[in-house]
Amino acid sequence: MTDRYCVFGNPIGHSKSPLIHARFAALTAQALTYEAMLAPLDGFAAAMHAFAAAGGNGANVTVPFKEEAFRLCDRLTPRAQAAGAVNTLVFGSDGILGDNTDGAGLLADLTRNHGLEIAGKRLLLCGAGGAARGCLAPLVAAAPASLTIANIVPEVARELAALAAPNLPAAGGDFADLAGKSFDIMINATSVSLNDGELALPEGVFAPGAFAYDLMYKAGETSFLKQAQRMGAATLVDGLGMLVEQAAEAFALWRGVRPPTAPVLAELRELLGH
Ligand code: NDP
Repeated sequence: MTDRYCVFGNPIGHSKSPLIHARFAALTAQALTYEAMLAPLDGFAAAMHAFAAAGGNGANVTVPFKEEAFRLCDRLTPRAQAAGAVNTLVFGSDGILGDNTDGAGLLADLTRNHGLEIAGKRLLLCGAGGAARGCLAPLVAAAPASLTIANIVPEVARELAALAAPNLPAAGGDFADLAGKSFDIMINATSVSLNDGELALPEGVFAPGAFAYDLMYKAGETSFLKQAQRMGAATLVDGLGMLVEQAAEAFALWRGVRPPTAPVLAELRELLGH
């Protein structure tokens, strides 16, 4: 029987994961199927167990089920444990293993695809939700000079900053706390671009030559990247590369083969018209 994978989400129609994994499978000559699965908002656990019982080998998990998946797994990788969220499941005879490949995907995109040097730079992470939490450990491991986390609810940002604190100078607060500070790299892990909104950033927050990254992607520029450009950021990058790289991490975990990402990213960019 052909190995089976899927992505669970709600909604799920927009997901690019089936396309990405089909291309990875073709490029690495792996025989598998990968489908999009709409799980009811109150029925993720049942859908996941049914897929595993029907012979499913693994799955990805997207909004809004990543935290629930974390709670349902029998075992967690250290990076899933650190993230408090799971985006990759492996179904085995010894139960369900949960992993989180988002942070590794972000780092691969920043450093391999865009050649960004993080070491020694002043880094600002906006947002303190699931994606920010998942990206924190790999960002800290990249040794920035300092890490600042800004969030509407400042307590959550302080909590996240405290997790990083033993390893580097880190501070958390709200967006008003950014007044008078500037940063070399800004990563937007808020969902502000989903609604075409902007962040409450003070003038001068982008240092000369600053690099701005939005985890969100869409056809055309995201609202955060438009704002970053207006406020002086020199380089603007959206999260499509992260999407492809986190998928490659999951594929490598499932199949033991690392797929090439550049041709798949190029195809997706063409599909989205940028
Ligand atoms: P969550 O809902 O867990 O977190 C959302 C965060 O955004 C919270 O910190 C929230 O702050 C903040 N926020 C929401 N609205 C605003 C606003 N108007 N101004 C400032 N902050 C705001 O979402 P995720 O962490 O799962 O996802 C965040 C983004 O990352 C999404 O756009 C998602 O599409 C993208 N993403 C992309 C991936 C990729 O592969 N490219 C992978 C994973 C996520 P508070 O809690 O204080 O309200």
